[in-house]
Amino acid sequence: MKYVGAHVSAAGGVENAPLNARAIGARAFALFTKNQRQWSAAALSAASIEAFRHNLAESGIPPEQVLPHDSYLINLGHPEQAGLDKSRAAFLDEMQRCEQLGLKLLNFHPGAHLNKLTEEESLDRVAESINRVLDQTRGVTAVIENTAGQGTTLGYKFEHLAHIIHKVEDKSRIGVCLDTCHTFTSGYDLRTTADCDQTFQRFNEIVGFQYLRGMHLNDSIPELGSRVDRHENIGQGKIGLELFLYIMNDDRFNDIPMVLETRNSELWAEEIAMLYDMEHS
Ligand SMILES: [Zn+2]
Ligand SMILES: [Zn+2]
Repeated sequence: MKYVGAHVSAAGGVENAPLNARAIGARAFALFTKNQRQWSAAALSAASIEAFRHNLAESGIPPEQVLPHDSYLINLGHPEQAGLDKSRAAFLDEMQRCEQLGLKLLNFHPGAHLNKLTEEESLDRVAESINRVLDQTRGVTAVIENTAGQGTTLGYKFEHLAHIIHKVEDKSRIGVCLDTCHTFTSGYDLRTTADCDQTFQRFNEIVGFQYLRGMHLNDSIPELGSRVDRHENIGQGKIGLELFLYIMNDDRFNDIPMVLETRNSELWAEEIAMLYDMEHS
């Protein structure tokens, strides 16, 4: 079964996210469990946790189909000790919030070397950061997102994802999320069925579909290989509709949250309905 949704607002409290997801016909969703632009946040209140669990159950969306996203400030591959420590502490807090909410996944961007480490050294730090946090938590899988490769960010090659997974000790709690815009702008073509066959075959050879725990469904404003991260609404960008028809009819994308992060959120309900209409077509 396909689980499509969007990265919905949690304004006013995390408990509002399942309601916002339900309102647009989603079977999956993403959310921030704290303000994504700040380092610290108040702990989730018992009332908020209880209301979230209640609203999620009411929505009919399984906890496995919720893909929380961590703060943009966190850099698990940080070249400097102070920045690394701060990032690891914040990431642990994010994982613990997921545990409290009864969620199973936490989506994050791997990090950036800031021109002070090699990519390999920085990737090793990311893996070490994940090992430490997995040791201190239970039941939540760390889901690495591939990136467009802006600036010095890691994760724009399938080999980067494989490198991290290889060095993570608990393979049962590490996975990846492929963002279709990031995949395309980092240089993997997705415009035709033949391109999709080739790109996803490479992904399977280098990383493996057994590690695919989520998708971000976005069209792209920038060109193939531009290494710029700017999302467009489905079918309105440089990728086009064929990719989404491909994904909706391929069993390798079953039973994982597939989340829209497209530019205009007013189109999400329409986009979700359109994607479900593409199934078996
Ligand atoms: Zn994304
Ligand atoms: Zn993006």
